[in-house]
Amino acid sequence: MSEDNLSAVLHGVDDLRLEQVPIPKPGPKQVLVRVHTVGICGSDVHFWTRGAIGPFIVKEPMIVGHETSGVVSEIGSEVQHLKVGDRIAMEPGLSCKLCEHCKTGRYNLCPESRFFATPPINGALSRYVVHDDDFCFKLPDNLSFEDGALIEPLSVAIHACRRGNVRMGHRVLVLGAGPIGVLNLLTAKSVGAGKVVITDLDDGRLSLAKKLGADATINVKGKSLEAVRAEIISALGGQQPHVCVECTGAQPSIETAITTTKSGGVIVLVGLGADRVEIPIIESATREVDIRGTFRYANCYPTAIELLSSGKLDLSGLTRAHYKLEDTLEAFKRNQKADVIKVFIQC
Ligand code: NAD
Ligand code: ZN
Repeated sequence: MSEDNLSAVLHGVDDLRLEQVPIPKPGPKQVLVRVHTVGICGSDVHFWTRGAIGPFIVKEPMIVGHETSGVVSEIGSEVQHLKVGDRIAMEPGLSCKLCEHCKTGRYNLCPESRFFATPPINGALSRYVVHDDDFCFKLPDNLSFEDGALIEPLSVAIHACRRGNVRMGHRVLVLGAGPIGVLNLLTAKSVGAGKVVITDLDDGRLSLAKKLGADATINVKGKSLEAVRAEIISALGGQQPHVCVECTGAQPSIETAITTTKSGGVIVLVGLGADRVEIPIIESATREVDIRGTFRYANCYPTAIELLSSGKLDLSGLTRAHYKLEDTLEAFKRNQKADVIKVFIQC
């Protein structure tokens, strides 16, 4: 094995450097992974441009990247289900396994969670990374390393659709046609939703959503809430959505979700925007519109692998760009252009 462990290390705002770091040693229940592909997420770029997301502040150098696939290159003494050479996807959030959340399967809520590239935990945009064996998932032969990296944001969508209880024949409104919005569109469709309508401010993103199977797309730019609401209901044949999946974090979009969801329906808040937002709360109370939070995911990697490997969910239509680890900075700049759904870095 070479000693090369080039890594993308964020030192602070606008200060992302490629540096050599020591190749880590796996513990007894860990594996060393030769990283193959890392997808860039909006949060990686946010830490680079702003240095913080809410309470998570970059105070010391941190390796970025958390949407990761690779090949097992060394296993710890107690690892049972993996062997050297296995192709895997890495679920980035480790949890304590002991608290009530962990024990009841909602380990995404674990207060001890250690998630790749959420300060102060290092991420995986490196040649090599170690990871707990139970958060590594073997990739079936028919899935690529890019599929493996995409399992992370796809898991966000699977968790959101589960939280929203998206079911057969449901009318679904997805707000926002970024990576998370379009993955929610694909997930809702793959689990049998009826019509899915999607909104955005950008025609390019909406035309991709249309190609990916949206029944209707609505550009909300410059339109009043009433006009947007009327367009959504008209696109759904005069009916309101059962479930709204909010993937923008923008106030007008959250308000649209609350006022447009049918009485007794559900809104899932995926988008993270301002800390405080004014919303029509009485509308939610008196029409029993449930507003549900969603944070990352739990128990979604196996489902994502099953959906992809069986062909029930097809990611081949996502627009992509590719960079080498050495060109990480260019890749981050490209991600800011938002002209493709996913920018990948090959390590
Ligand atoms: P993105 O910024 O690429 O996409 C957001 C899209 O929303 C953009 O295309 C933008 O044009 C559109 N938009 C903005 N304002 C709008 C409005 N008023 N109406 C309609 N569309 C509007 O982000 P992404 O990577 O797709 O992620 C979406 C959101 O989900 C982000 O806020 C992100 O932080 C959040 N997120 C949350 C979790 C979680 O665990 N809850 C996980 C991943 C991402
Ligand atoms: Zn825990």
